[in-house]
Amino acid sequence: HAKAAGRNTYALFGEHMDELLRTRRALEQDLRLALREGTTIEAVFQPVFASDTGELTSMEALARWNHKKLGPIAPDIFIPLAEETGLIADIGQIILDDTCRCLVDAPSTVSIAVNVSAIELASPSFPLRVLSTLESWEIDPSRLELEITESVAVEKRGAVESNIASLRGAGVRFAIDDFGTGYSSFARIRTLEIDRMKIDRSFIQDMEQSGNKELVSAMIAMAHARGMKITAEGVETLSQCQALKALRCDNLQGYLLSKPLSRDMALSKIGSDTSETLGPIAKA
Ligand code: C2E
Ligand code: MG
Ligand code: MG
Ligand code: MG
Repeated sequence: HAKAAGRNTYALFGEHMDELLRTRRALEQDLRLALREGTTIEAVFQPVFASDTGELTSMEALARWNHKKLGPIAPDIFIPLAEETGLIADIGQIILDDTCRCLVDAPSTVSIAVNVSAIELASPSFPLRVLSTLESWEIDPSRLELEITESVAVEKRGAVESNIASLRGAGVRFAIDDFGTGYSSFARIRTLEIDRMKIDRSFIQDMEQSGNKELVSAMIAMAHARGMKITAEGVETLSQCQALKALRCDNLQGYLLSKPLSRDMALSKIGSDTSETLGPIAKA
């Protein structure tokens, strides 16, 4: 993200670039203020379903910033900004607390996945911060899954590896997010201590095109061969849903099944009448 933003910046000239930098600095100021006030950044929760039973099995916590003047700012804007300005751990903590608050009120069979940026994961204090948060909310660590990107998982950096190991030792699970978009080798995947893969939505979107279903099928087979579960991200159509079910993809997530919801809305979907949300799966 940072690189792409940088390139766009240089493509503009003179005053435009000044303006852009001013905007960025203003947004950074606003983000600091928002974190200090602690009311405009919160998590929403996108339900994830078992493809065989159609049951809601977990949710993904996604950060939202409702800017006082500008309205909602996309995570693709403020997460990279937070990473570059050292504010990401503060956002991470808000999302983790919101997640625990939601887990407290959900049945113990439901888990929640939280996205973790590379910077957080490399911090030596990260495992203790996560585990003490879980402890203070009295949440079983096995109900938390941390989503990391392929590049982070594959890089053999000491701090990251030992942090993953100590959190997994305590029962926290790990998933590789946006799988297929990074540069991991089969050799490295073979040695990964990871519990789940999430197939990037670009593969799901292209699934109807020739050869792509086979690719998704291979990803599912690979995950299962390694004893991992696998989730499809960005399921938007009934035919994608049916194809993924037939391929024995374990879990499904996407707008077809549910958009990200407020905590209360997400909680109300658990075990409720399934005709609206799960209809597409049930019919499949
Ligand atoms: P992600 O972790 O891959 O999350 C999935 C994104 O896809 C979310 O976008 C979600 O709203 C969107 N999505 C879900 N289903 C569909 C669908 O069917 N179609 C389409 N087109 N999109 C779908 P969102 O919420 O805008 O988040 C974007 C990214 O920002 C996330 O991608 C994640 O990388 C990052 N992010 C979000 N929250 C956090 C956070 O708390 N911490 C960190 N470090 N990163 C976060
Ligand atoms: Mg994610
Ligand atoms: Mg993803
Ligand atoms: Mg992503």
